[in-house]
Amino acid sequence: GSKRLYLGIDLGTSGARYALIDKQGIVHSEGKRTYGQTDVATNWATLWKETLLLLLEDLPPTLRPYISSISIDGTSATTLIIDSNTGELLCKPFLYNESCPDSLPFVTSIAPENHTVCAGSSTLSKLVSWWNSCTSDKGNAILMHQSDWLLWLLHGKLGVTDYNNALKVGYDPDTESYPNWLLSQPFSYLLPSVKPPGTPIESMKEDIRRQFGFSKDCVICTGTTDSIAAFLAARVTLPGKAVTSLGSTLAIKLLSTSRIEDARFGVYSHRLDDKWLVGGASNTGGAVLSKIFTDDQLEHLSGQINPLIASTLDYYPLPSYGERFPIANPDMQPRLHPRPENDVAYLHGILESIARIEAKAYELLKELGASEVEEVFTAGGGSKNQAWRKIRERVLGVPVHVAEHTEAAYGAALLALKGAGACR
Ligand code: ADP
Repeated sequence: GSKRLYLGIDLGTSGARYALIDKQGIVHSEGKRTYGQTDVATNWATLWKETLLLLLEDLPPTLRPYISSISIDGTSATTLIIDSNTGELLCKPFLYNESCPDSLPFVTSIAPENHTVCAGSSTLSKLVSWWNSCTSDKGNAILMHQSDWLLWLLHGKLGVTDYNNALKVGYDPDTESYPNWLLSQPFSYLLPSVKPPGTPIESMKEDIRRQFGFSKDCVICTGTTDSIAAFLAARVTLPGKAVTSLGSTLAIKLLSTSRIEDARFGVYSHRLDDKWLVGGASNTGGAVLSKIFTDDQLEHLSGQINPLIASTLDYYPLPSYGERFPIANPDMQPRLHPRPENDVAYLHGILESIARIEAKAYELLKELGASEVEEVFTAGGGSKNQAWRKIRERVLGVPVHVAEHTEAAYGAALLALKGAGACR
């Protein structure tokens, strides 16, 4: 038949979701599974695998035969070391937020100054930590990111990743190769081969295909990281278009024709086909609002703000001290005074001040060499605030919209769609 569907799966920090879309991007089915109680003793690999299989079971059986392709995103820098002969894990997975400070002196000695890998939580620091502590035979070991590993459970071909996941192990998406300072290391044989996100890898393994009733034509495609998948969900494809995420913090992602990096501000670029996805994150955002107001108050007070009038109150709202972007100052103090009697005026001042920080953030990216922002889509808990959207439109001087889709699983489904297109 002509009906074709594309499946995206997102393995997040607290659970997993799927989105099943058609060529137009219309959602035919979606669902989620939470991990439940987890602790230090949690066997994460088993939990991820079980959750993946539960999501496949949740897919309506009548739709499964129409699925042309599947892609998966996972948390960035979540790392597994596997025995390529047996497929067994050689150690516990390293979680995205786990730090291996013991590796840092070595990593900083081999990598260029301020490289993305120069963090205790980078994939490379995790690989080095394992390399230095493992005493058994390492000859068959290979490195996989979380999404590589879950995709591998579906397709069975070892040693493939995407260039978004590979950034934090040191891959250079500009030259499309691992740099020589990395290739000259004794552990470089563990590194996977790298493809663009949404590249067909292999057909689905026969046993899984039969178990769930997928089509023989169903192909598994390379994935990406969860935050990139969430950006992809907004379907922003032109340079100058951006997504601001107003969650607990304020994160911006801008599509640019040029690649920029600046470790002082924590700014770096991911490749997206022929463009660059430039990102930075401020510590301002919803966490400050939640400290002062309840969600109901936020809604009620915002409804009384006149967004067309500029507030003269000048704050720098932070949940505690320290800011990274667009001002790099680890000692920066929050500024939320003077507090006016009227709470509508107070909230107006805070929202206006956060909007000014957002404007400064896009301004800084431009100064660092990125494309100028032309249009902003909004994700996160603050996106539903219409008064804030209008304030931001005035302060940023560009159209601001609510993003229609913001789920990472939807972004992963778009990668599956891209991969299926590449097959034909
Ligand atoms: P995260 O996933 O980063 O924790 P969410 O995207 O769920 O955050 O957004 C939660 C934030 O949204 C809260 O910190 C809260 O302050 C903010 N928020 C909730 N409702 C509103 C509103 N009406 N206006 C502005 N911000 C809001």
